[in-house]
Amino acid sequence: MSNTAIVSLWRRYRAVSIVYRIGLAFVLGSILGLVVGQPATALKPIGDLFVRLLKMLIVPIVVFTLLMGVRQLSPSSLGRVGVQVVALYAFTSALAVAVGLGVSNLVSPGSRGLSLTNAEAQSAEAPNAVEVLLNIVPANPIGSMAEGNVLPTIFFVVVFGLGLSLVWEETDDEAVRSGIETFFDLAEAGAEAMYKVVWGAMEFGVVGVFALMANVFGTSGIDAILPFTLLIVTMLLAAVTHIGLVYLGGLVAGLAGRSPLAFLSGGRDAMVTALSIRSSSGTLPVTMSDADENLGIEERIYGFSLPLGATINMDGTAMYQGVAAVFAANIMGVNLSLIDQFSVVAVAVLASIGTAGVPGSGLIMLTLVLTQLGLPLEIVGFVAGVDPILDRIRTMVNVTGDLAVTTVVAKWNGAVDFTAEAWNDGVVPSIAD
Ligand code: ASP
Repeated sequence: MSNTAIVSLWRRYRAVSIVYRIGLAFVLGSILGLVVGQPATALKPIGDLFVRLLKMLIVPIVVFTLLMGVRQLSPSSLGRVGVQVVALYAFTSALAVAVGLGVSNLVSPGSRGLSLTNAEAQSAEAPNAVEVLLNIVPANPIGSMAEGNVLPTIFFVVVFGLGLSLVWEETDDEAVRSGIETFFDLAEAGAEAMYKVVWGAMEFGVVGVFALMANVFGTSGIDAILPFTLLIVTMLLAAVTHIGLVYLGGLVAGLAGRSPLAFLSGGRDAMVTALSIRSSSGTLPVTMSDADENLGIEERIYGFSLPLGATINMDGTAMYQGVAAVFAANIMGVNLSLIDQFSVVAVAVLASIGTAGVPGSGLIMLTLVLTQLGLPLEIVGFVAGVDPILDRIRTMVNVTGDLAVTTVVAKWNGAVDFTAEAWNDGVVPSIAD
C-alpha cells in the first residue's frame, strides 16, 4: 500500500468519532475472543497497558478538574439563590447514586455470564464505618495523592479550592488575589491538558478495549453478552426511576406543585438534544431556551443555575457510578457493604463536580469509584464499549436534573411564569418544529 493510501486510510479512521471506534473494537474483540477462545487471552497485556494509562490519570484529573469546578462555587457569587441551587443539586445527585445503587442491587447486572476474581478485593479486610468516615479526611494530603487514595484526595482538593476562593474574596492584597487567579488558571490549563491526555489514552483504548474484550470472551464465551445487556437495562431502569420519582414526583409535582407532563413537554427539546449529542454543555443553549420560552423561567435564575448545572450537576453521571460499581462488584464476585456503598455516594457526588459536560467524561470518573472500592480498572475497558449508549442516558438525566432544580428554585423565588405555554396546556410545539 502506498504512503498516501495509508495516510488517507488513517485520516478516514480518525474521522470516525472515538466512541464509535471503541464500540467497534468492543464488538470485534468480543468476536475474536468467541472464535479463537483461550488463545485470545494472550492479548491481555495490551489491555493491561490501557488500564495503566487510566490509572496514571486519576490523581491529576481529580486535582485539576475539581479545582476548576470549585472555582464556580466561590462563596460570594452564590447568594441565596445560589445556595438553594447548589443544595438541591447536591441532594438530587446523592439521591441519583442511591437510586443507581438500589436498582442495580436488585438487578445484579454483572452476576451472571462473566466472572473475574480479584484476590486483592476479596482479601481486603473491610474497615468499619467510623474508620471510613475518619479516612475521608487525609492526615497527609500529599501521602493520599501519592497512594492514589481517592476520597481523601477529593476532600482535600475541595476544601483547598474553597479556601482559595475565600482568601480571594477577603483579601485586599492585589498580589495575593492575582496569585490565586493564576493558580486557578493553571488548574484550568492542567485540566484541559489532562482531557487531551485522556483522549490520547482513549485512542490507545481502541486497541486496549479490543484486547480486553478478546480476553473476556476468550475466557467466558458467549455468556459474557448477558451482563453488558443487563448493564444497559439497569441504567435505563435507574434513569426512569430517578426521573419519575425525584424530578417529576418530588421536585416538579411536590416542591413546585406543577404537572409533570407539562414539565416534560417544556423540557423535551433539551432532553432529546442531550440524548443525541451526549453533552450537557453542548445542550446548554437548548436547555436555556426551554427554560425561557417553554417553562417561563426568568433569566436571573436559569442564567445562573443552568450553566452551573452543566458544569457541576451530573445526576446521570453520579447514578452511573452507582450502577457501574455494583456491576463491577458482581463481576468480581464481591459484595459491596453498606459502608462501601456510602463511599460510592460520596465519591460519585464529589467527582460529578469535576466531570466535564462533554461526551464520555463520566467513563473516566468511573476510575475514581473503582479505585475507591479496590476494584480493577479493567472494568472501565469493559464498559467503554457500551458507553455510547450509557452516556446518552446519563446526559439526558443530567440535563433534566438541571431543569427540574431550576424550576423549583424559580418557583421559590417568584421567578417563573406559570401561565407560560408549557404549564398552561401541557403541550408546546418543539423548537425543532
Ligand atoms: N456526557 C455527560 C454530559 O455531558 C457526562 C458523562 O459522560 O457522564 O453530561
